[in-house]
Amino acid sequence: MNQLSQTRLIGTHPEVVRRAVEFASLLAADGIELLVVEGGRPWQEQAADYAKGRNVAGQVVDESEVVTWALPGYSWHQYFVAFDACPLDANGQPIWDITNPAWQKMFALYEKAGLFCGKDFVSPSGKPEPDEDHFQPEEILRSPSDVIRQTFQNGGVAAVWSLLNLQPFQWEVT
Ligand SMILES: [Zn+2]
Repeated sequence: MNQLSQTRLIGTHPEVVRRAVEFASLLAADGIELLVVEGGRPWQEQAADYAKGRNVAGQVVDESEVVTWALPGYSWHQYFVAFDACPLDANGQPIWDITNPAWQKMFALYEKAGLFCGKDFVSPSGKPEPDEDHFQPEEILRSPSDVIRQTFQNGGVAAVWSLLNLQPFQWEVT
């Protein structure tokens, strides 16, 4: 995993970092370099991100500007157990076209690293809300619950990590 990606994962849960590194290794074996775009995202940053493309009432006014579906506290980024990542092209530039073969490789490999991909996110009402560059541990709730938010209010990120009790993911040794 490249230096910039490692820097962006500072503060992220060690087990999530471990899985991100494994994901990068699996991709590297296929000649694809992974770039971590973002790791943890503090509460206020999520609020600022949520405001993009929306008016003050929270309604979407410009869908092309929307970067997240999650209010602060409703994304695992706020608890430092998620990261966003994309593949890099041969010139080291991010690839954002998810029909690119490098993205198809990403989609084929994330489960082997113990991850869930946000491409499969759906709203509580069942509406697809894909977020293809988003990855989080496979075994936790798709989105943080009220219990998680309450735990955070009382004890911060450390208390949430303790509650999640993430165990080392056992990947296949090849
Ligand atoms: Zn994300």
